[in-house]
Amino acid sequence: MPRAWRDARGRLWWKARSLGLEWPAHDLELFEWCRRPLGSWPLALALTGADLEAVLLEGDELSEFAEQAADLAHHADVEAELVQNQSFAALLLCVRLNGANEEATQKAYARLRRLLIDHPVLSDRDVQVLARELPKADSDNDTFLAKFLRTAYVFHPVPAPGKARLRRCRQCGNPADNDPVRCGTPGCTGRPEAYEVLCLAGYWQQHRATRQFFHDPGLVEGRVLDGLAKLPADRVQIEPWPHLDAWDGAVTFTSMLPQETAECWVFDAKDCSSPALLARKFRSDPRVPARRRIIVLPTHRAQTPGYRADLERELQGRVTGIEILDEKSFLRQAAARASKAGAAR
Ligand SMILES: [Zn+2]
Repeated sequence: MPRAWRDARGRLWWKARSLGLEWPAHDLELFEWCRRPLGSWPLALALTGADLEAVLLEGDELSEFAEQAADLAHHADVEAELVQNQSFAALLLCVRLNGANEEATQKAYARLRRLLIDHPVLSDRDVQVLARELPKADSDNDTFLAKFLRTAYVFHPVPAPGKARLRRCRQCGNPADNDPVRCGTPGCTGRPEAYEVLCLAGYWQQHRATRQFFHDPGLVEGRVLDGLAKLPADRVQIEPWPHLDAWDGAVTFTSMLPQETAECWVFDAKDCSSPALLARKFRSDPRVPARRRIIVLPTHRAQTPGYRADLERELQGRVTGIEILDEKSFLRQAAARASKAGAAR
């Protein structure tokens, strides 16, 4: 079950317990209640009259009320949105001021976007290494890298230089403090492990907003980029986040025959619980000329019944010429295209 569901179930359970009720007993029971009007639930919910009539599930589909409430709830997290926006602004400022030209800026951008995916936790020693790559500072000698880190991460001091003992998910790297056996990150099947971070004064841990907006949805971007990186470099060029994030990646297949031109595919890897919201936010950026424009779905979304059909329906009328592939199919097709050595698809 996704974290949001478990959180909600947990909150309901505690609230019910405070009233002397043992409810809900399990997920299936709560699913059943989602099909009944909210006003009939065992707990009095603080809702207006019309909303008390609403249900969360209509059959197996989310109700319109549930969709809109989720959208509103998302926007209600003002602090997280603010941190997301500030982090992105600080990242852009850092890469623009450190990049001597467009190419260097793009490289620095990809470096920091990747950092957010690969490093939910950074030791201050890691930061020192990074600071040599991105040294630009303001007149107070405060580096733009440090400004970015202070926005996107939270510093945890240690009493003395040495090893900080932490727990993380072995697969996605997220801190694993709450659940001893499972990682709550959507789609992650990793298990928690203990590990040590070698630090001087402390370590940096991602702000929850950074985790929510950059790290967790970025895991599929990282997997796809890593998969593409395994293809033969003489046949495939990969540009991560071209034009500072117009797409998640552009893949160019080199022409192996003189009469052929190179072929480019662009992709956006999207990990979004709601296909409707994904479609609503999706923009097909025309700045990268491409033969194929592809939305890549992480396996755990592509396997969700009805997800792809919903996404196709929601995209209709908004964009044209967009293909939808799951991450494995995308990588398989890219490998096949690369191995054809420039033969027509
Ligand atoms: Zn994980």
